Amino acid sequence: MSGVIYDRVALIGLGLIASSMYWAIKRAGLAGEVTGYARSQETRGTARRIGLCDRVCDSVAEAVKDADLVVLAVPVGAMEEVARAIGPHLKPGATVTDVGSVKRAVIQSVAPHLPDGVHFVPGHPLAGTEHSGPESGFAELFEDRWCMLVPVDNTDEAAIARLKSLWQGFGSNVEIMDSDHHDLVLAVTSHAPHLIAYTMVGVADDLRRVTDREVVQYSAAGFRDFTRIAASDPTMWRDVFLNNRDATLEILGRFTEELFALQRAIRRGDGDHLHDYFTRTRAIRRSII
Ligand code: NAD
Repeated sequence: MSGVIYDRVALIGLGLIASSMYWAIKRAGLAGEVTGYARSQETRGTARRIGLCDRVCDSVAEAVKDADLVVLAVPVGAMEEVARAIGPHLKPGATVTDVGSVKRAVIQSVAPHLPDGVHFVPGHPLAGTEHSGPESGFAELFEDRWCMLVPVDNTDEAAIARLKSLWQGFGSNVEIMDSDHHDLVLAVTSHAPHLIAYTMVGVADDLRRVTDREVVQYSAAGFRDFTRIAASDPTMWRDVFLNNRDATLEILGRFTEELFALQRAIRRGDGDHLHDYFTRTRAIRRSII
C-alpha cells in the first residue's frame, strides 16, 4: 500500500517503535516529512548519523510544530511530561497518538494536556523485540501484527480512520478496543508472561548449584525464550507494571492460585490433576492456532 496519509509526522522518542515507524513510513511513502525528537543528545546524534527521520530537532516544540500527526513513542512513565511539553505547540486539527503498552494510565496522563481542536487517538502496536534504541528499528516490525486503537469518547471518526490507514499501510491489522479491556487483555497476553519470565531467569541466576554456563548450555526452548523476554528494556517494563497495576495484579493472583494447585498436585503425586490440567491447556493451544 502507498500514498501520503499525513503531510508531516513528528516522532517523539526515537527508540525501537518510533524508528520502525519511520522506516515503515518511508518504505510505503505514507508521509511527506517526518521530524524526530528524543530527549538525549546522544540518541539525536545517532538518529542523524543513521538517517533516522528527515529532520531531527533539538527541541520537542520544533519537532511538533506544523505536524499533522504526533506520535508519542516514549516509555509510559514519560508520556505526561512529553504531553505537557508539546501541548502549547500543536497545530489545530492535528492528531496525537501514542504507542504505549498500557492505555488507561496513558490516556489519563496525556489527555488533560492536549488543547481543544487536537484529536487524541491512543494506540498500541502488538509488536516488539527485546532490543531498544534508535538502531533497533526495521520497517517490517508491524507486518501481520495487530495494532490496537483505543479512542476516547467523541473522538473524530475521520481522525481514527486516518490513523487506522497508517497502521494498515505498515501491514498491521487494526482493532478498536476500550482502554480497560485493552489493559486486561494485555495483562494476560504480555505483561504477566513478562513478569514470569523475569522471575524464572532470576530464579536460575539465584540457584548456586547450577552454574550460569550450564543454564546457557542446556537451556531448552522454554528457558531460552524466557531469557530473551527477560532481556527486554527495564525502563519500559518498570513503567508497564507501575501503570497497569490493577489488571496485572488480578492476573497474577489467578496465576498464583493455579500454580499452588499444581504444586499441591505434584506434592501429593496427583497425576490425574496434572494430566487433566495439561490436557485442557493443550486444547486451548490447538483452538487458538
Ligand atoms: P525504546 O527504549 O527503544 O525507546 C524509547 C525512546 O524514548 C528512547 O529513544 C529514549 O531516549 C526516549 N525518551 C525517553 N524519555 C523521553 C522523554 N521524556 N522525552 C523524549 N524522549 C524520551 O522504547 P520502545 O521499545 O520504542 O518503546 C516506546 C513505547 O512503545 C513505550 O511506551 C512502550 O511501552 C511501547 N511499546 C514497546 C514495545 C516493545 O516491545 N518494545 C511494543 C509495543 C509498544
